[in-house]
Amino acid sequence: MPSCAAERDSSMPLVMAGGAALFLNPEPVADFMDFICVGEAETLLPALLRVLTVDEQIVRRELLARCAVVPGVYVPSFYQITYAGAGIASRITLDPAPPTVQRLWDGDRNGAPTVSTILTENTEFSHMYLVEVARGCPRGCRFCAAGFIYLPYRQRSMESVMEEVRKGLQKKKKIGLVGAAVSDFKGIGELSRFIVQQGGKVSVASLRIDCLDEQLVDSLKVSGHKTVALAPEGGSQRLRDLIKKNIDEEQILSACDLLIGKDMLNLKLYFIIGLPTETMADLDEMIALVAKVRDRVIDAARKNKRLGEVLLSVNPFIPKPFTPFQWCGMEDLKSLEKKVRYLQKGLGGLSNVRMQMEGLKDAYLQALLSRGDRRLAPLILQAGEKGWKKAARELKIDTDSWVRRDISLDEVLPWDFIDSGDKEKLVSEYRKAFSA
Ligand code: SF4
Repeated sequence: MPSCAAERDSSMPLVMAGGAALFLNPEPVADFMDFICVGEAETLLPALLRVLTVDEQIVRRELLARCAVVPGVYVPSFYQITYAGAGIASRITLDPAPPTVQRLWDGDRNGAPTVSTILTENTEFSHMYLVEVARGCPRGCRFCAAGFIYLPYRQRSMESVMEEVRKGLQKKKKIGLVGAAVSDFKGIGELSRFIVQQGGKVSVASLRIDCLDEQLVDSLKVSGHKTVALAPEGGSQRLRDLIKKNIDEEQILSACDLLIGKDMLNLKLYFIIGLPTETMADLDEMIALVAKVRDRVIDAARKNKRLGEVLLSVNPFIPKPFTPFQWCGMEDLKSLEKKVRYLQKGLGGLSNVRMQMEGLKDAYLQALLSRGDRRLAPLILQAGEKGWKKAARELKIDTDSWVRRDISLDEVLPWDFIDSGDKEKLVSEYRKAFSA
């Protein structure tokens, strides 16, 4: 079957896609899809399925026209896009200007529960039953896609979560609580204790530094959690303020003290490098902060005659659509490599500190797909066979012009046709970040 939608005929199935990556920016894969679901399936799918399950024989174009009027459905072939200029710098014209596609979100999170439905050993989380406790995040860190594309923040009620936990414990011993900011869930301590009291174990991906709940930490310990993850993200106070993390060093160290006091001696810390305006001085501050955390871990480990470790997960900043930092270019890979070496050297003398890193080239591709548009389709088609670099060279596609460039606030962005919330708010957050 041809990859491009334009080359497929009525005898072939329709190809659709959805999910977070697609409602961030569907444009790089738009040519391959007959239609794309923009938003949350709970709200979008019922109306779409009614359209798709018609009995009558209708031609493909007519069926797509019916899909296009379903809120949240984007049919790329109905949008004629003209680019004048190169890369993301080009002016984008939609002709004729179609209505924007609205990102749909589910207003009733106590309705359809989101839980593990297929339990198989062949998944990353095969040993636990996942239960979503909340969707979105109320914090609004300026770089974070999850904090913006799932707005508004919605919690499930405690009763409905507990009901799902009871069902889950009949299938698995461990319950994984899911949400962008699980520790913001009101009653997280009570919920985690409930799981333990029911004879289960509890797991969460990471904990918010400024609202560590002792009951939750106790429950994680009883559940055999060996490592707890915290996310300072910015190495220096200046950068934490820039990204609106709203935490300071004292809070980070207090959170570490609380965990260490509970004998949780393996701490994982998430940091981002290459944030806009970052300098080596910010990295020095990060190294100093890690040294303070590590000293605390070592002291406690000595006293308790145990081993403790600080694991750093360091990842580069990738500009994401619909965030206040969508206009900021990604840092050059060579400069990021230099920063990584600087960190490795600075942290090298610290025993019991280990650093993990996402591949920088993968991060670059993520940025390209995040900020790209339909002109990337030929590159995507050829990259599998030739590799991205060679394919880009042969196609004369300057990927840097999407990835690296700071975009001015008045430019039309490839994903601007999606109505995902308040763009003015993004502009205002961007201005606040850089006016300080
Ligand atoms: S980084 Fe974490 S706390 Fe900040 S907006 Fe994203 S999910 Fe929320």
